[in-house]
Amino acid sequence: MMSKARIFDLSLFVAAVGIALGTHPGVALNYTYLKAMLLYWVFASFYFQLRIVTRSGNSTIDYAISYTSSFGIFAGPLGTLIYEICYRVTVFLYKKKTKTADPGEFLDTFYNIGSFTLGGTAAYYLYTLLYPVATNFPAGYWLLFLLVVCVTTFLSSGFLVITFALSGDIKTRKEALNLLLKSRNLLDFSKVALTNALLLRLLQMEKWEMLIALFLLNYIVSLSFFSKSQSAQHKFERDKFEQMAYRDFLTGSYNRAHMDKMMKELDHSGECIGIVVADIDRFKKINDTYNHAVGDKVIVDFADTLKSHLHEDDILFRSGGEEFTLFLRNKSFVECRSIIEEILKDIAEHSATAEYEDQLIKVRYSASFGLYYYKTDQNTSMQKGYVCADQLLLESKKLGRNRLTHKNELAD
Ligand code: GH3
Ligand code: MG
Ligand code: MG
Repeated sequence: MMSKARIFDLSLFVAAVGIALGTHPGVALNYTYLKAMLLYWVFASFYFQLRIVTRSGNSTIDYAISYTSSFGIFAGPLGTLIYEICYRVTVFLYKKKTKTADPGEFLDTFYNIGSFTLGGTAAYYLYTLLYPVATNFPAGYWLLFLLVVCVTTFLSSGFLVITFALSGDIKTRKEALNLLLKSRNLLDFSKVALTNALLLRLLQMEKWEMLIALFLLNYIVSLSFFSKSQSAQHKFERDKFEQMAYRDFLTGSYNRAHMDKMMKELDHSGECIGIVVADIDRFKKINDTYNHAVGDKVIVDFADTLKSHLHEDDILFRSGGEEFTLFLRNKSFVECRSIIEEILKDIAEHSATAEYEDQLIKVRYSASFGLYYYKTDQNTSMQKGYVCADQLLLESKKLGRNRLTHKNELAD
């Protein structure tokens, strides 16, 4: 038992064949026709490959230009039918060979032949009817093509909506309207109309070289846009991946991996740098008194506070659970020290806000700091500086916490 959608698909094909055979051919199927058909066939197949590649990505931009209207007008209903059969069967065989064919591909091929032949036929009749009128207007020929392209596009979209509706793939009026209007804009119409209008003129004058040049131009422009959008997409994904790999999710600051990378970059650079290790005091108690989620809020508040005191070149890393490391750069020792003193004051004067048992609570906390100021040159690595700063932090903890212990290696 064949579905309604399939019956519709096949009746499109039958209608296309009926019109093609039932009407006067319109144009002679001679040597010129064969040459034109061969050219269209080759270039449409080229474009088809481009279209496939685009769809296999996560974008569905369609760079290909439909040549249906110019060939339809040039070849008439029967000529279009013959061309569409050749082209669609090529596509079908290509998909079979590359194993990209859908299960219903064979019947889809009949639908495509029917739909596009009817589109070309409509273009042929519309053009024949309106051409004498259009030539009375300035730029009438080109505007006529815009109309022809609009009509053929909406006709094929209309056929698509009907089969989808019959097969149950679209259920609401809104979905149907979306499909009809989707990605259809004046730019697209103009592009297709101009190309087809030029193609038809060149066909009528039998300017084969120019015809090929126009096809090539279209193909190359599409290909270049396509490769540009691909590389932009790749760069975007790479950047995003890098950001994810080097960022800490909770606080948005850089993570340990980025810190290791930065340390390698700054190693032996001859830069005077203040390395600070900062750690929240008795953090376990906050976790135990409330819960882990409240603890997280305190960590975020601590990170935000640190960030708000940093200058442009300074870098903040979350180097452990509630431990952060700062690289203070392009500063004197005194400047580094006063930044940490400001931070200590800031933390003492405010509290973190968190939700606990359905209430907003304020959590006070303190932190300890170790600051090691030195010059990273041939003899002293960043790793050594970090170890020294960590040692100074330990000193702060031993001395009773909530304080800064510092050492200026460059002091005389
Ligand atoms: P001290 O003053 O000596 O630093 O005491 P402390 O309790 O802060 O020290 P310690 O380093 O022993 O405890 C840190 C605790 O932080 C242990 C761990 O369960 C907790 N922790 C680590 N990472 C996270 C996190 O991402 N979220 C929360 N809520 N807790 C964390
Ligand atoms: Mg701690
Ligand atoms: Mg700790």
